Amino acid sequence: MKDVYLLAYPAGHSISPTMHNAAFQHLGLPFHYQALEVGPEDLSIAMDKLREPQVAGSNVTVPHKQAVMAYMDSLSDVAKQIGAVNTIINNDGLLHGHNTDASGYLRSLQDINFSPEGKSVVMIGAGGAARAVLYALLEAKATEVFIYNRTSEKATALADDFSALGKVSAATTDNLKETIQNCQLLVNTTSVGMVKEGKDPDVSPIPDDYLPKEGLVSDIIYKPRQPRLLANAHQAGLATQHGLGMLVYQGAYSFKEWTGVDAPTDIMFKSIEVLV
Ligand code: NAP
Repeated sequence: MKDVYLLAYPAGHSISPTMHNAAFQHLGLPFHYQALEVGPEDLSIAMDKLREPQVAGSNVTVPHKQAVMAYMDSLSDVAKQIGAVNTIINNDGLLHGHNTDASGYLRSLQDINFSPEGKSVVMIGAGGAARAVLYALLEAKATEVFIYNRTSEKATALADDFSALGKVSAATTDNLKETIQNCQLLVNTTSVGMVKEGKDPDVSPIPDDYLPKEGLVSDIIYKPRQPRLLANAHQAGLATQHGLGMLVYQGAYSFKEWTGVDAPTDIMFKSIEVLV
C-alpha cells in the first residue's frame, strides 16, 4: 500500500481524502490518501515522512504552499513561476515540488467551453490561489488581467511579479465598477463568501451591482455552490462557475503524478458533490 498525504493546518474540513480514496478504490489501486494536520513548526518532520519508501507523495495546502518549497530537491517550472507547491512527488527519497492549481483551473474552464484567450479579465484577490489562477489566465493568453484586492499593495506586487508573462495591472477602487463592466471574465479568488462554521455568510467581495455586461463570473470557492457573487451574476443572466471543477481537476493532475494513471474525474465529482 502506498500512502499519499494532505499537509494542512488545520486539516479537519478537507474533502480531498474522500475524492482521492474514491478514485483509488474505483481503479483498484493500492493507494490511500489521508489528511495530516501539520503545524508550521512540524514541517521538517513531515518532509522526512514524505521521503519514506511507502509514501508516493502529498498535496499541500494553507498555510504551507510556499514554505515547503525550501525542502524540495527539485521544482517544476510551473511551481517556480507560481511560487507555490500544491503537489509533492516522492521519487526514491527525493522530493519533487509541482503545482496543479493552474492547470486544474484551466481544465475547469475548458469543461464549460470557456477560453480566456483574447478576454479582458478582472481577478479579485491576491493570495496564494490568485497566483495560480493568474498564471493560468496569462498562459491561456488572456488579453489583460486587472487585479483587485482589499490590500491594494498586494495586488500591485502580484501584478509586478507576473508582468513578464502578459499584460497585468492592479485595479483601483475608483475604476473598479467600470473595469468589471467591460471585462468578459470576473473571477473571485478570495475566501469572501465561503461557508464558515457551517454557515453561508452571504457576502460578496465586491458590491452587488459590480458585474460584467457579458461573459463568465467564476468563483473558486466550492462551498456554498452559489456564493452571493454567483447568485448576483446568475440573476443578471450571466454564465457562472463555482470552484468544484478546479478542486477536482487539480486533484486529478496530482493523482496522475503519484500513480501514473489518469484519474477517474467523474468518480471524483460524484464522491464530493454530496458533501458541498
Ligand atoms: P490566502 O492566500 O489566505 O488569500 C486570501 C485572499 O482573500 C486575499 O486576497 C485576501 O485579501 C482576501 N480576503 C480574505 N478575507 C477578506 C475579506 N474579509 N475582505 C476582502 N478580502 C479578503 O488564501 P488562498 O489560498 O488564496 O485561498 C483563497 C480561497 O480560494 C479560499 O476560499 C480557498 O478555499 C479557495 N481555493 C479553492 C481552490 C479550488 O480548488 N477550488 C484551490 C485553492 C483555493 P488581503 O490580501 O487583503 O488579506
